[in-house]
Amino acid sequence: MTPSTDTDIGLPLDMIIFGGVGDLAMRKLLPALYMAYLHGNLPAQTRIISTGRQEFDREAYLAHVEAHSRSFIASENFNDKTWDGYLQLLDYVRLDVQQAPDFGALARATHPGGQRVFYLSTAPALFTTICDKLADAGLVDAQARVVLEKPLGNDLGSAIEINEAVGKHFAESQIYRIDHYLGKETVQNLMVLRFGNSILEPLWRAPNISSVQITVAEEVGVGSRAGFYDSTGAMRDMVQNHLLQLLCIVAMEPPTSLSPDAVRDEKLKVLRSLRRFGLADIARDTVRGQYTHGVSGNQEVNGYLEEKNVPEGSKTESFVAVRAHVDTWRWSKVPFYLRTGKRMQRRSSKIVVEFANPPFPLFPGAPGGVANRLVIELQPEEAIKLQIMAKEPGSGMQMQQVALNLDLQSAFQQRRAEAYERLLIDVVRGRLTHFMRRDELEAAWSWADPIIEGWSTLGEKPHPYPAGSWGPAESFALLARDGFAWVE
Ligand code: NAP
Repeated sequence: MTPSTDTDIGLPLDMIIFGGVGDLAMRKLLPALYMAYLHGNLPAQTRIISTGRQEFDREAYLAHVEAHSRSFIASENFNDKTWDGYLQLLDYVRLDVQQAPDFGALARATHPGGQRVFYLSTAPALFTTICDKLADAGLVDAQARVVLEKPLGNDLGSAIEINEAVGKHFAESQIYRIDHYLGKETVQNLMVLRFGNSILEPLWRAPNISSVQITVAEEVGVGSRAGFYDSTGAMRDMVQNHLLQLLCIVAMEPPTSLSPDAVRDEKLKVLRSLRRFGLADIARDTVRGQYTHGVSGNQEVNGYLEEKNVPEGSKTESFVAVRAHVDTWRWSKVPFYLRTGKRMQRRSSKIVVEFANPPFPLFPGAPGGVANRLVIELQPEEAIKLQIMAKEPGSGMQMQQVALNLDLQSAFQQRRAEAYERLLIDVVRGRLTHFMRRDELEAAWSWADPIIEGWSTLGEKPHPYPAGSWGPAESFALLARDGFAWVE
């Protein structure tokens, strides 16, 4: 699709970023807004107002952005003149979210009567106080929008508390719970592939599909985020949100329309159909891991327990694999294998849909292999491939696997926006379809919480795996038991 340039939202836009000096703002949000500006996707009267406790005047903040954010814009997209124009949109307001008077300064920096978008890129523990104080300062009106970063809460109880607190001031239609995986072109494409074609739908079910794998593997370790990560772990940080959202897109029934509620109703049904885990299921169908010293990208790297700010003897998991089930007619007995980890062999996120093999092996070749797979690659590159069997040229009827490659890059000449850019434009235009609704988020926590509690009851240490590997051996055994193997 050509990027739309319907930038006129009828009002001046104030994009207010809480945590505007933080890691996410520097690496993702400000570069994404630059790209939106470069492509004419921000309204003419836009202000981007960053907030934080650090003492910056506007010039010092712009210098900080120059030093810490500019390098995250690909050189082919960088243009001095556009960058200078973009910097004109930026402002900084020093603000401690605990201090009500600081919100007066923020109010003075906004366009009166403008479209306000509050992007809460801080720890979720601050969301309640930010929303209360915004409301007290008279900054929340009927058209204001709030974007909430993940993970939203630490468990179901805290998620409910945050949702209640935000909901006191913002209607559900004003709340954008972001999961950047839903902004990826390929994930949105999976919906088109499934519901814009009729050939896949009759096959998209048990027993034609024998298993689904969803992997989100990171090459990086915990880095400087141990303070946050050690009290979170891979289940809360990745599975409860990103992996379950991807599972929803694979497993959902066709929605009745593309309206936000029609799509989110179907995702909610999937989340509510996820089989709950008892202690025996947790012991059998989940694997927790923690990386140890190893080699990553040709460099020796620390194990999790040696990382800065990780408490001695921490049992936090940096890896999770789960064998999940969606208890519906469509997915009866189809295992959904979910896997995520830090310090894995390489950065790779993909969904693999494995189809049942032909019931009778007629042709020689590829013995024991899986005949057909739909592979949706999300990272590092986005691609969709259908693996099928074909005849090897020459005499005889030897068959071999080949991939029908849906080469989106050459089929469409248009640029593909990054997930954050696309989602930020959705927020500005008021499009909620690719954001999570409250009940979805709470259903996801209802599934994840008993697993996390069960791990704590069982008291087992996570299985060690060397940095630079694909995780603990137990994760391979989880699939081997059912006759499957992870597709790397
Ligand atoms: P971060 O680097 O720690 O930034 C958070 C910011 O919050 C800090 O810059 C800090 O600015 C500000 N802050 C803290 N206390 C404050 C207070 N009392 N008043 C005003 N500002 C305050 O965190 P981050 O990595 O950017 O993450 C932000 C959010 O995004 C988190 O919820 C995280 O889970 C989520 N997230 C992050 C990533 C990522 O890649 N970083 C990815 C997905 C989701 P001052 O010190 O200037 O006050």
